Amino acid sequence: MSNITGITRGGSVWEPQFVTELNPATCIGCGRCYKVCPRDVFELVERSELDLDDAEMDDDDFDDDDNMMVMVISNAMDCIGCQSCAKVCPKKCHTHQAAAAA
Ligand code: SF4
Ligand code: SF4
Repeated sequence: MSNITGITRGGSVWEPQFVTELNPATCIGCGRCYKVCPRDVFELVERSELDLDDAEMDDDDFDDDDNMMVMVISNAMDCIGCQSCAKVCPKKCHTHQAAAAA
């Protein structure tokens, strides 16, 4: 099955890049991706709710604050692949890739 493609108003074909991962070890919970996303893809949760290995966390960012909020992908199937989240994230947390329809 071929990947999903779109077309601009001017007739150019483009290939959406859908969000596939969000790295909780680098996320600082700033909320920028949540605000910019045109779909209901992200959710802010407490870091302590996630099953994270402390060894993976960046001590400079977290300072043992288990109540810190981090962003997670809660509704990946609603992503339209615009990559706005990646453009506003100050920590480069998101991973995107082209995909066929589910
Ligand atoms: S690529 Fe666009 S639609 Fe998908 S999660 Fe990021 S901002 Fe939302
Ligand atoms: S923009 Fe980046 S650092 Fe900020 S909440 Fe989203 S993933 Fe986390």
